Amino acid sequence: MVIKALKGTKDILPQDIELWHKLESRALDIFTKYGYKEIRTPILESTELFARGVGDTTDIVNKEMYTFEKSDRSITLRPENTAGVVRSFIENGMTRLSPPVKLWYKGPMFRYERPQAGRQRQFHQVGVEMFGIEQPSADAEVILLAVEYLKSLGLCDLEVEINSLGCPSCREEYKKKIKEILKPEFDNLCEDCQNRYEKNPLRLLDCKVDSCREIFDKPEIKKVIQSDFICEECAKHFADLKSYLDKMHVKYSENKLLVRGLDYYNRTVFEIKSNNLGSQNAVCGGGRYDSLVKNLGGEDTPAVGWAMGMERLCSLLPSVEPEKLDAYVVSNFSADAFELVQELRKQGIKAEFDLADKKFTKQLEKASKIAKFALILGEDEIKAGKVSVKDLEKSVQTTVDRKDVVKQIKG
Ligand code: ATP
Ligand code: MG
Repeated sequence: MVIKALKGTKDILPQDIELWHKLESRALDIFTKYGYKEIRTPILESTELFARGVGDTTDIVNKEMYTFEKSDRSITLRPENTAGVVRSFIENGMTRLSPPVKLWYKGPMFRYERPQAGRQRQFHQVGVEMFGIEQPSADAEVILLAVEYLKSLGLCDLEVEINSLGCPSCREEYKKKIKEILKPEFDNLCEDCQNRYEKNPLRLLDCKVDSCREIFDKPEIKKVIQSDFICEECAKHFADLKSYLDKMHVKYSENKLLVRGLDYYNRTVFEIKSNNLGSQNAVCGGGRYDSLVKNLGGEDTPAVGWAMGMERLCSLLPSVEPEKLDAYVVSNFSADAFELVQELRKQGIKAEFDLADKKFTKQLEKASKIAKFALILGEDEIKAGKVSVKDLEKSVQTTVDRKDVVKQIKG
């Protein structure tokens, strides 16, 4: 029986890899420009990290984790990378570095979700985390960075949505009010919402079930949900963030229902969405998580960051044409062809020759399909120490000294 890839997982095939390389190299260029250093944390972490770090009222921790026991330890394939980065930040004494500490990552994440368009069980994220700054200039800079990265890939018509969840103290009041107004509707809420009602009432606002959305749209309930609950300090933080974004010409809209799936956010949350993605339309999600470092045992350190789904980015972008070989050596003398190819490769030229001893005309045909230049190495050329260089785009051929081949190719 043929063995297939697991449901919800996908191969990234050679014909698609150029686009992935583009996403990765653009990330390196732009994040480096903004002062970020890459960090690579393990895919395996202790389950407790996510239970404490992501929060045990979240879907991620409750339903979506790949967890297994090994030598009496509970281990989980990371469903996201913020908790791992924070663990490493604490474990490696990065709290002692002078702030801001700016880190970025890319790599696979694992969530046991129902596979569908835009939703896989192994998917990839690229993301950034900035530690040590509580001022809203940091929030603005990470949002600007996300927007610049997306623009550099050619994605300009995305929508940035922002909201403030306040701080733990002003949010408590708001949670109470939400619970109060929804109490009479409790029996009409979906099962998930009923479960979250006590532990995490804010998450109810995120519910996608139609019957719940109808409840939240009732005027008296909507009024409470949309009320300005955040305290003066949080309101100033949010207002300052908006004025930084205005100054940097970042377009955004405010969405009071934006609460995000993870427990650790406070104050700023944001999402970047595309109208071309169907129902899984978020490409980027992030926010501020000032209590996470402390919750995971580190010193109190404010932080803000985001993650983007790379598969969703790929589905918005045109594929990248694979680059042609610089040269394909065409010859009936394979040892000589091999030698020439190695000479060229040493000088940085992308070159190949026919490893299968095919006929000369077949080799020439192949060269015209995959290379910019055919380098013809016949008996005469070998004897004279020369190579015939055929420009396959312009269809012109010249014979040059072997030492001048690279010059001829590079023009
Ligand atoms: P969603 O509402 O789409 O489930 P989320 O809130 O679970 O998103 P985050 O944990 O914030 O997502 O992850 C950030 C980004 O990672 C998302 O905006 C999305 O682009 C991508 N992402 C999340 N889950 C998946 C998945 N299962 N498959 C593919 N991409 C995903
Ligand atoms: Mg999700």
